[in-house]
Amino acid sequence: MKLCKTLYINGTSVAPANGTLDVLNPATEKVLASAPVASTEQVDRAVAAARSAFVQWRDTSDEERSQALLRIADRMETHADELARIIVHEQGKPLMIAQREVAGATAWVRYTAGLTLPVDVVFEDDSKRIEVHRKPLGVVGSITPWNWPLMILIWHLMPALKAGNTVVCKPSEYTPFHALRLFEIIGEELPAGVINVVNGRGDIGQAMSEHDGIDKIVFTGSIATGKRIMGAAAGNLKRLTLELGGNDAAVVLPDVDLEQAAEGIIAAAYKNMGQTCAALKRLYVHEDIHDALCEKLVAVAQRHVVGDGMEPGVTFGPVQNSMQYTYLCGLLDDIREQGGIFLCGGEPLPGKGYLIPPTIVTNVDPHSRIVQEEQFGPILPVIPFNDLEEVITLVNEPQEGLGGSVWSADIEKAQAISSRFECGSTWINFHGEVHPSAPFGGCKQSGLGVEFGQEGLMEYTSVQTRHILKQG
Ligand code: NDP
Repeated sequence: MKLCKTLYINGTSVAPANGTLDVLNPATEKVLASAPVASTEQVDRAVAAARSAFVQWRDTSDEERSQALLRIADRMETHADELARIIVHEQGKPLMIAQREVAGATAWVRYTAGLTLPVDVVFEDDSKRIEVHRKPLGVVGSITPWNWPLMILIWHLMPALKAGNTVVCKPSEYTPFHALRLFEIIGEELPAGVINVVNGRGDIGQAMSEHDGIDKIVFTGSIATGKRIMGAAAGNLKRLTLELGGNDAAVVLPDVDLEQAAEGIIAAAYKNMGQTCAALKRLYVHEDIHDALCEKLVAVAQRHVVGDGMEPGVTFGPVQNSMQYTYLCGLLDDIREQGGIFLCGGEPLPGKGYLIPPTIVTNVDPHSRIVQEEQFGPILPVIPFNDLEEVITLVNEPQEGLGGSVWSADIEKAQAISSRFECGSTWINFHGEVHPSAPFGGCKQSGLGVEFGQEGLMEYTSVQTRHILKQG
């Protein structure tokens, strides 16, 4: 496992000009290693390299770019074990989940290699034809978070490259090593300057968002930072794709299969220890089955083995950083003060590591913090309901609108209910899964634009409409 001490700019490993920052292992709270910190001048250099590489890269054929992506996927596969271990050490998730992240990211690269940009003929008669073409934007700045670090980097990077753009990436300061190593591994498959990675704190993301040499920012992270990026990007009217937070609700109807629902709900609520934008974060259960379902949820949640993600048998790791841990401990205190009842969990584990076990809580007010805020951690509030109209109003209350699900044996009824949710994705009888062919994005303050599939690819392009007058 190599923890890189260098940035990657213009096809070369480069020493940082702004010192280093310590990255902690969240399972032990010990320093894992010092990561390089870029200066804003190095951001300028990375952008200049990407601008100069763009001139060549945009003119490569679609087939050449597909082949490059397929070679990148092969390299990722060769280094899969190393990448997974880096993710466990810096991010905290159990090894098996990190291995799935690397395998999923690699499959995503291959899928994206097969996507193509359409040419639409929108008008044609004997004298004239109008075609709509898609052209790359230029330099894309990618700013990624710490929860699914490699997966989200691939979600940003691959469609940008496939559409003919060049890229400057900034990983989260909490999880930089997977990105620094990935670029060393895949860099040789691309001309110098096509991909660059600069690491640093929020000021580096800010510098990228303001940079006149960057044409688009793709960002995944908090709503607050998304708003800052939007403001900073106005200088040169950058294009934006913002994938921000979610506070996804699930509504469980009384006809549901309890065993099956409990398995699916626990998987969706504690995906990545709850640190997933489209994790299930509020559970509304019909009062007729509330107690019976809670019992099953607790049984499934308690199967998890909590600990250091490198330990054999551990299925549930720490939350990723002290900020997140402190915030979640505050939420647990708030629940306790408000009279919430913990059915399982409720206390962080003693000793080192940001370990909070799977927690299920009832007797919470639908307007309390744990329901209204995006907890982004392993605490699931369960709220009984008996009136469908009221529950739909509650589902649509928060500022977020990323996803939502309905659980029922009656698929048609479930679909009719979920169609009234104000969110970008809905699921019936499961929750939070994404697919490379299916557009994914948020309504309201959950974001702007979509990722994945043909629509996601088109977000890395601008339209060129060609009006052609036929001769003769
Ligand atoms: P942020 O949104 O602050 O961080 C995400 C990325 O943005 C990081 O790379 C960060 O860099 C960078 N960044 C920070 N400030 C700026 C800025 N001014 N301009 C440009 N980029 C910037 O998330 P947090 O880590 O603070 O997490 C806070 C909350 O965000 C979580 O509790 C959760 O609710 C939500 N979140 C949502 C995610 C999602 O998948 N939608 C993922 C992660 C968090 P750096 O790390 O160096 O500060």
